[in-house]
Amino acid sequence: MGRVATVNQIIPFSCVDGPGSRLVIFLQGCNFNCKNCHNPYTIDMCDSCGDCVATCPVGALSLTTEQEKSKVVWNSELCTRCDTCLATCPKQSSPKTRQYRVPEMLELIRKQVHFINGITVSGGEATLQLPFIIELFQAIKSSPDLSHLSCMVDSNGYVSEGGWQQVIPYLDGAMIDLKSWQEHTHRYITDRDNHRVFSSLKLLAAEGKLYEIRLLYIPKVSDFDSEVNAVAGYLNQLPASVRVKLNAFQHHGVTGEARLWGTCSEAQMLELAARLTERGVGNLVLPSVYL
Ligand code: SF4
Ligand code: SF4
Repeated sequence: MGRVATVNQIIPFSCVDGPGSRLVIFLQGCNFNCKNCHNPYTIDMCDSCGDCVATCPVGALSLTTEQEKSKVVWNSELCTRCDTCLATCPKQSSPKTRQYRVPEMLELIRKQVHFINGITVSGGEATLQLPFIIELFQAIKSSPDLSHLSCMVDSNGYVSEGGWQQVIPYLDGAMIDLKSWQEHTHRYITDRDNHRVFSSLKLLAAEGKLYEIRLLYIPKVSDFDSEVNAVAGYLNQLPASVRVKLNAFQHHGVTGEARLWGTCSEAQMLELAARLTERGVGNLVLPSVYL
């Protein structure tokens, strides 16, 4: 039967989720609870409570019963993408997910194969559904018509060494978020410490699988500016090939107290980039827009 993944969204082409043009699979569910999350409805798994069903203005949601359990069903053809259901959900979830098995995902990838360089699995937190990712990457690498596609993961890095070791044989690269430098600021932003994130970065760098480290600059909240000497020292010991992507915090999609945080302007970002460059950090990638 194979593994099943709960998928929030699939984008057939993206140029910002790894090298070249990529099909990106966004999986549902996350093990962080970031105050600044731009897609908070991807954090929890839907428990089919049914609260959103009656709020859908076009009747695209219904409740059915499967093996004596209620299950919310989404009709994507009726859905107008108004997102009323997301606003209604008492969890941080969405009824607009779909389950995919690996053969079905391969079929979808085959339709795009002539237009893409690879696939990226993102989230939510992709690695919460690691068995699916491993089976998918294995299948891609062993299919003659797909084996040229690179297989990347976009992750918050909160993964055990054992988890990485299982996927590394089929993984071409990972993009890892470092949400803050100090443990207490990382915990404040995400509800989790960053020890495992640093362990993941170390392991992936040693294995030659760290494609990109991503730093989200939230002025006065994340501490990459106040800790610039330590951060630069850390980045300088990563392999020179690793891209250091600086992301500027904006309010798009953000809910709760993080809406009160100041956004990151281009001037603030350029100042941080200049301070990192002065300290020898190369391979910096800056945002192209500040919206
Ligand atoms: S996004 Fe779609 S399913 Fe959700 S309330 Fe709007 S129409 Fe209904
Ligand atoms: S999406 Fe949220 S409100 Fe809708 S059924 Fe699932 S848990 Fe309940």
